[in-house]
Amino acid sequence: MQPLTNRAKVLEVKPLSFMERLYLPAILKGMAITFRHMFQKKATVQYPEEKRPFSPTFRGLHVLNRDEEGRERCTACGLCAVACPAEAITMEAAERQKGEEHLYREEKYAAKYEINMLRCIFCGLCEEACPKDAIYLSETFAPANYTRKGFIYGKPDLLIPDPVNEPQAFAEAQGRIGERKAQAGPTS
Ligand code: SF4
Ligand code: SF4
Repeated sequence: MQPLTNRAKVLEVKPLSFMERLYLPAILKGMAITFRHMFQKKATVQYPEEKRPFSPTFRGLHVLNRDEEGRERCTACGLCAVACPAEAITMEAAERQKGEEHLYREEKYAAKYEINMLRCIFCGLCEEACPKDAIYLSETFAPANYTRKGFIYGKPDLLIPDPVNEPQAFAEAQGRIGERKAQAGPTS
């Protein structure tokens, strides 16, 4: 058969030497390597009990942010959805009613906000596009699920706990990225 390129190499099969035919030296050599590795630092971690620290630039699951008074920051402007290259974000806007000022920071809010985590590529463009500091990518990731529907994250899944009524849950959910953002102060 005509070769496609001239890069083919002819392999030469050498007969085994006496020592190679014994196999024992090769087995001992392999066991010595295994034994040596028993005393070296392990490259594997016992996940999920043990977790590796995330890189400072890690971008995980989204968090819908609240302000210091516990009000939702999102004003349903749609900029995050427009910026999203994966078209993973959908939302429905609603008008804030009288008496709801303690719930929503702006006059318009997201009555429905969904992110399809199967589409999301965790690029962080939604966070960059948001003018209200209302969304950021945290240091957790979407756990495995058996259904596709389980990867559609709605507002109850994304919204950070209320810092006024649930300060501990808020602090835990905030994570390191949130703390950094809080130290930097609100952007709007
Ligand atoms: S991280 Fe990127 S892909 Fe995921 S929702 Fe935000 S903009 Fe879309
Ligand atoms: S998260 Fe930010 S960019 Fe997205 S709709 Fe809300 S306010 Fe607008």
